[in-house]
Amino acid sequence: MSEATSNNFIEEIISNDLKEGKYKSILTRFPPEPNGFLHMGHAASICLNFGVAEKFGGKTNLRFDDTNPITEDTIFVDSIKEDVQWLGFKWENIFYASDYFEQLYQFAIQLIQQGDAYICDLSAEEMAKQKGSLTEPGQNSPYRNRSVDENLTLFEQMRAGKFKEGEKTLRAKIDMASPNMIMRDPLLYRIKFAHHHRTGDKWCIYPMYDFAHGQSDSIENITHSICTLEFVPHRELYDWCIQKLNIYPSHQYEFARLNVNYTVMSKRKLKQLVTESLVNGWDDPRMPTISGMRRRGITPNSIKTFVQKAGIAKREKVNEFSLLEFCVREDLNKIALRRMVVLDPIKVIIDNLDTEIEVEIENNPEDEYGGNRKLLFTKEIYIEQEDFMENPPKKFFRMSVGQHVRLKGAFIVQCTSIDKDMEGNITQIHCAYLPNSKSGNDTSGVKPQGTLHWVSCQYAIPVEIREYDRLFKVENPDSEEGNFKDYINENSLKTYSNAFAEPALKEASLNDHFQFLRKGYFYLDKDANDEKIIFNKTVGLKDSWK
Ligand code: ATP
Ligand code: MG
Repeated sequence: MSEATSNNFIEEIISNDLKEGKYKSILTRFPPEPNGFLHMGHAASICLNFGVAEKFGGKTNLRFDDTNPITEDTIFVDSIKEDVQWLGFKWENIFYASDYFEQLYQFAIQLIQQGDAYICDLSAEEMAKQKGSLTEPGQNSPYRNRSVDENLTLFEQMRAGKFKEGEKTLRAKIDMASPNMIMRDPLLYRIKFAHHHRTGDKWCIYPMYDFAHGQSDSIENITHSICTLEFVPHRELYDWCIQKLNIYPSHQYEFARLNVNYTVMSKRKLKQLVTESLVNGWDDPRMPTISGMRRRGITPNSIKTFVQKAGIAKREKVNEFSLLEFCVREDLNKIALRRMVVLDPIKVIIDNLDTEIEVEIENNPEDEYGGNRKLLFTKEIYIEQEDFMENPPKKFFRMSVGQHVRLKGAFIVQCTSIDKDMEGNITQIHCAYLPNSKSGNDTSGVKPQGTLHWVSCQYAIPVEIREYDRLFKVENPDSEEGNFKDYINENSLKTYSNAFAEPALKEASLNDHFQFLRKGYFYLDKDANDEKIIFNKTVGLKDSWK
């Protein structure tokens, strides 16, 4: 048990439970439904569930809540495992709610035998009509008083496939006048002739969330079952089932969902973006999915810091996307290798340079063990088009005719003239370099205001750069009029297909994060290969978004 201070109210509850000796050790679970890829909100839940267990010397199960066969699939199971591991967490066990189908069926029989559940023939519409409202009690179903024997027989026949979908359900017999609508004889089982990704066609009845979740917690001896606020009204039913079945008393605790602006965060909506090809798959770097963030170059550390800063709250709020970016920058600044890449090149000829000169540049000024790399400064180099202006305004400290600038890690150059084509477009720039101005050994006495990044035309490698903007144009696409998809930012992807990178980037791997000087943080795309090297922009150097 840890003496560390509590970061949030959940930790406080657990810390007290342990102090009071309620539990010897705690067991939590992360219970995703395998019907999509995990997003930032799930990351918050993962960090909380695994985090408290780690902190208090407990354990965490990964449980797939796979009680809804229609939307679930093994590809989602695999991606969820990958994401949890990538975030750096280790589960104690992997379980599936579908492992408990037989046990849950037996629990249902127990309730029927106790007179606590019955088979109902009402259709969904009829049931809704009889449910009452917040101000009016509901009406009892005409099937509420079926005998135990009849209920048992009908339930068996439901399982055996004797009825059509929707023809019969199993309902808990609780209280049609309960002020909590969820307690008005809730559904426990429904008929579904659907193929399940694990149990195949073995079952044609499936338990509802409320009759699977708490029981699964109980079967695993989960001590603290942590979920989001929308389950507050379900807690009464959670406790009712456990008490009626007299099984291990797991307890449910609720916290507020993590929300982030300029994005949507429900699997249902993210799935629409994918299936309607509004993004390039679940792991598109613009997606708020864990796999999208990974592909973009966001690190597990920065996600954890972000989740921590956003906090575990009792009330919902919307967090700034820029807070995540802040955390990403802070982390990458420490670990990113500095490299030079010209996104939008123009050629510069150093007229008075006829050899190649080796220069050395540090890999990461934030890391004293980061070392240096060697580059060749050559007669022909590329700089960014935007770093040159023919008619510069005052305080343009980059390249213009007559002006001195330093080329990073190399020499000071002075622009002498420009060449143009027939249409008047600049085709190349001429410069002279100052041989006594080498970085680290500069005796020229010239003090240029600007430093530019550059690459050697001869040695640079062609690369493609993908730059991303917010996926939505408005802060909260969910609350705007119309459909959230109406607010997609059509300009959220910008591709530079003519970029050039310094040669060291040929060796880039998915283990590296880079800062391209003056341009931002970048990460190799997983689809890159020897023919085509692609980098994704993770985030800019400063918060420049308006
Ligand atoms: P979605 O609405 O995106 O499909 P969900 O809640 O249905 O989300 P599940 O797979 O059922 O997704 O969720 C697994 C766990 O993650 C649950 O405990 C759920 O409460 C939690 N979770 C989901 N979204 C968030 C969020 N935005 N913030 C915090 N926790 C979340
Ligand atoms: Mg769900």
